[in-house]
Amino acid sequence: MKIEIINTGSELLLGSTLNTHGAWLGQRLIEVGLRVQRLITVPDGEPIRDAIKDSIAVSDVVIVTGGLGPTSDDITREATAEALGVELIEDEHAVRCLEAFFKKINRPMTPSNLKQAQHPCGADVLPNDRGTAPGVYVPPRLGTTGEKKGCAIFLLPGPPHEMHAMYDAEVAPRLRAMIDIPADFGVTGIKFSGVGESRFQDELDAKLEAIGGDAKLEVGYCARPGELDLRLIGAESLREEAAQLAIDTYPESYISRNGDSLEKTVVDLLAKMKLKLALVESCTGGRIASRVTDVSGSSKVFTHGYVTYSNEAKSQLLGVKYETLAKYGAVSQEVAVEMAQGGLVHSKADIAISVTGIAGPTGGTEEKPVGTVWIGISRIQDGEMHTSAVQKYQPQGREVFKQVVSQAAFMLILNSLRAKRKNS
Ligand code: AMP
Ligand code: MG
Repeated sequence: MKIEIINTGSELLLGSTLNTHGAWLGQRLIEVGLRVQRLITVPDGEPIRDAIKDSIAVSDVVIVTGGLGPTSDDITREATAEALGVELIEDEHAVRCLEAFFKKINRPMTPSNLKQAQHPCGADVLPNDRGTAPGVYVPPRLGTTGEKKGCAIFLLPGPPHEMHAMYDAEVAPRLRAMIDIPADFGVTGIKFSGVGESRFQDELDAKLEAIGGDAKLEVGYCARPGELDLRLIGAESLREEAAQLAIDTYPESYISRNGDSLEKTVVDLLAKMKLKLALVESCTGGRIASRVTDVSGSSKVFTHGYVTYSNEAKSQLLGVKYETLAKYGAVSQEVAVEMAQGGLVHSKADIAISVTGIAGPTGGTEEKPVGTVWIGISRIQDGEMHTSAVQKYQPQGREVFKQVVSQAAFMLILNSLRAKRKNS
């Protein structure tokens, strides 16, 4: 089935609004096995009409977003009627719904709002209980011999929360009814960290390709700083087999397979294990703490976040010894260990993570080049404190450095928790 999406709005092309509809719809459609053939962004006004004409000529389904508002530049309805060669008519029910909506929000309805109750003749009005713009569905028209032909058209409102709700309630069920996909068809996304894209692919690509034989499993990769997402599209049994293979091949790099971020996976596991976390950060400047607190429910597990940037702070707040700092330098295994130990003792948490490194671009030496970082972890196990530190090397500029190092820190916590769970 050929699907095209037309996102309308001059603001999308001027760069003042990020076009999130294309990506959102692309993800939703692939969940039912539908691939977008073309994604078009057009400014308000005349170009909408041309884009609709072009798209309905070559597609089975066209989804248009935006331009259903009451103002003069909102012409999606008119443009669609014109492209189809039909009249715009007013829908009585839509008028009543608009009146009710304005009553609910206690604002007078203006005459220009009435425009929003119009739709191309032969179309269905899609209710919108989150805003004033009803959507429109134009079913594929019947051919002369009764067979379906032509293109199904959906007009959806621009505000994201309205568009999302209308897609789920009105568009998805209609699309499902149009196509014949097995009930177990879907997409699985599996997140990994700490394994390079090429290594992952070299090790797994051929094996993943072989899964299912002729029954097709589509495999895709998406790499971002400190993370690799594996995308599997196909029948559930094939996705399951492939997911298990990938996870078993890289168990220490595995994050999640339900879409959860690394920080959410860590926070949820800490909560499940009823453990508390403290963070001691130098070069990441609080990035790890910030990511922990992005997760709802983090207050159950997160006790302290120390940002100890200077030697004095490391010493005053955490008890890192001046001799250690002088002898080994702030970026060293010894200091990372003392930072983690100090964090654990002072916070009374169950796990403390420390990070000390050189983000660059200045501050590197031959012995400790820019990108050198030590990550320490201190835990209470069987009543005793166990501390260790690992070295990483991430010379990629401050922003990527912080992201990748925070990923590595989370992975250290995650693997430590998983090992503890396995052993108990
Ligand atoms: P409209 O229905 O075209 O009047 O758009 C209403 C609101 O939704 C405006 O604030 C738009 O910037 C926003 N909007 C429209 N299209 C998109 C899109 N593709 N992605 C994100 N926001 C959008
Ligand atoms: Mg608009």
